[in-house]
Amino acid sequence: MESAESSKKIINPSHNKSNAGLLVDDSMRVSILSEALPYIQQFAGKRIVIKYGGAAMVNKDLQAAVFRDIALLSSVGVQPVVVHGGGPEINQWLNRLNITPQFKDGLRITNIETMDVVEMVLVGRVNKQIVNGINKVGALSIGLSGIDGRLIEARPFDEGSHGLVGEVSRVNVNILEPILSKGYVPVISSVAASAQGQSYNINADTVAGELAAALNAEKLILLTDTPGILEDKDDQNTLIKKIRLSEARQLIKDGVVSHGMTPKTECCIRALAQGVSAAHIIDGRVAHALLLEVFTDSGIGTMVIGRG
Ligand code: ADP
Ligand code: MG
Repeated sequence: MESAESSKKIINPSHNKSNAGLLVDDSMRVSILSEALPYIQQFAGKRIVIKYGGAAMVNKDLQAAVFRDIALLSSVGVQPVVVHGGGPEINQWLNRLNITPQFKDGLRITNIETMDVVEMVLVGRVNKQIVNGINKVGALSIGLSGIDGRLIEARPFDEGSHGLVGEVSRVNVNILEPILSKGYVPVISSVAASAQGQSYNINADTVAGELAAALNAEKLILLTDTPGILEDKDDQNTLIKKIRLSEARQLIKDGVVSHGMTPKTECCIRALAQGVSAAHIIDGRVAHALLLEVFTDSGIGTMVIGRG
């Protein structure tokens, strides 16, 4: 039998090298599990669309925690659908090829040369790294882009003002149904083709929002590098924990939400307007942020709700 002392563990030791981690004893661990029960029951058999990005994609420990969380969701019967961008990795490869990345309103301006790199990096490399990472921790994952099975059809964004940046013109989730029903975790990169076969780079938040709507997802979760929507984007202590759709619209109008937070907030609004029950913008710098959001009473980050 373990002594009381040895049964104490530090949550997430790899992120708490200073030993500042939480001490949990067995009774606490059991109550955490027990708190998860109603959520497991609520979400089993339901779809949760997760936009994976930011620090959680770059830091190896955070990456591993995300893959474990996704595997755990899948093994308790939730159907996670992962959508990813690949910002830093695309920039690295553009730099290697001496192409200067350009942004406008939080969106990458994409010429033909850049598009080739975006497609190679997102569909080829980043997508397979995520699939491999999820498989490694015991779930079964399959990688797709928006092009596969014509999952996402693209059209030029803002009449082509950003080059080959696209927006979603149609979603056809037929390809995902057999994948989900067999228990695979689809991992989707945000590249899609137009009806004419031109590849476009679409903001991954936008793709996640449209897929959540088309899949009748229970939740849309966007992982990013801030605690959520902040009242003052430069003050991490101004987190807005819960807002209604109408209030979220107002935050965009008032300029409280700007840059990369704009497509995030807009896609939450669109997903909710199309029937998704809740959309969350959460801090991917926190290890196991996904589990904290899905399986605890308090949740984490900003929750945008349709009504209430
Ligand atoms: P990701 O890589 O996860 O898509 P982005 O950089 O595109 O992240 O978007 C998140 C960024 O949006 C934040 O780092 C912040 O600079 C900016 N931002 C603008 N307005 C807000 C706001 N009100 N609250 C939080 N972040 C905001
Ligand atoms: Mg972004």
